[in-house]
Amino acid sequence: MILHIDMDAFYASVEERDNPSLVGKPVIVGGSAENRGVVAAANYEARKFGVHSAMASVQARRLCPHAVVIKPRIDYYASVSRQIRDIFEQFTPLVEPLSLDEAFLDVTGSESLFGPSAEIGRQIKQRFREELRLTASVGVASNKFVAKIASALKKPDGFVVVEPGEIQAFLDPLPVGRLWGIGKVTGQVFEQLGVRTIGQLRQMPLATLNDLFGSSGEHYWQLAHRIDDRQVVPDRKAKSISNETTFAEDIADMEVLRAWLVELVEQVARRLRQHDIKGRTVELKVRFADFQTITRSMTLAESTNITRELLDAGLELLTKHLPARHLPIRLLGFGVSKLGDSAKAQLTLFDQPDRKRHQ
Ligand SMILES: [Mg+2]
Repeated sequence: MILHIDMDAFYASVEERDNPSLVGKPVIVGGSAENRGVVAAANYEARKFGVHSAMASVQARRLCPHAVVIKPRIDYYASVSRQIRDIFEQFTPLVEPLSLDEAFLDVTGSESLFGPSAEIGRQIKQRFREELRLTASVGVASNKFVAKIASALKKPDGFVVVEPGEIQAFLDPLPVGRLWGIGKVTGQVFEQLGVRTIGQLRQMPLATLNDLFGSSGEHYWQLAHRIDDRQVVPDRKAKSISNETTFAEDIADMEVLRAWLVELVEQVARRLRQHDIKGRTVELKVRFADFQTITRSMTLAESTNITRELLDAGLELLTKHLPARHLPIRLLGFGVSKLGDSAKAQLTLFDQPDRKRHQ
């Protein structure tokens, strides 16, 4: 069985926990409206006013002028995230983090030790409450996508268990938008067809779905038929290290953008070296003045954490792979993924267990 565990309004809850005077007030964690920031998290009090994450701070302030706005402390949230992770790993080594505040856990092998999977979910929630004074929403199911739907269903402080025999009955009445990969645009197509629930989607022939959505059609069909064989893939390390900045004013000058990129690359490279990690895939993220956001990536011949090598790749993406007509730019980001450390590569070579290194 699989647990999907998602902290409730994570950054905002951490801030509230550390500053009791915030309790009961709308709290927004994010950049300032003056600096064209974005909402990173909003507590449930602020959400009542329509504020949500990824919203421009200017708009959030308009919706909820009396909200307390707090600058994000990402390093601190990451340290809390490690505490969360430590609790997970006391129940199972099979933890797949999706972000700082969200993970899949495969607890199938843990049941003989800790009791049924639902009981493990309850224990984890209780430990969060007692040790971290934070709440999480938990979904328990026999596959990933149902567990994820279940955790989102009763937020905050939710706890939803879907027994294997109940999956179809659980899914059928839910709106199609709950399925993984069905966003606004796809949702509208279903809406026009009069297909509102997962149960209705399940009645559609595979061929029709393929005609409508190409290869995604089969994906929707499988999910509606509760097919999802993806394993929980444990990953002891961050999947990527990145950094980005939103400019106070849009920038159209390529020389200025290059200077910003140097800064971003240097920060990312330094963090890679601090953790003795190298990465192979370099990604550039750009948000244009009209909020359209694109990413461009390239994979290097060899992993690196050398600033110069990463910068060369970043500059190539910036200067050769961006349509110049789209300038100016309001946000620039740089990240490195496909991470690994050199020691690990050697151990794999000799097929030695690296368990000792984690103790
Ligand atoms: Mg969350």
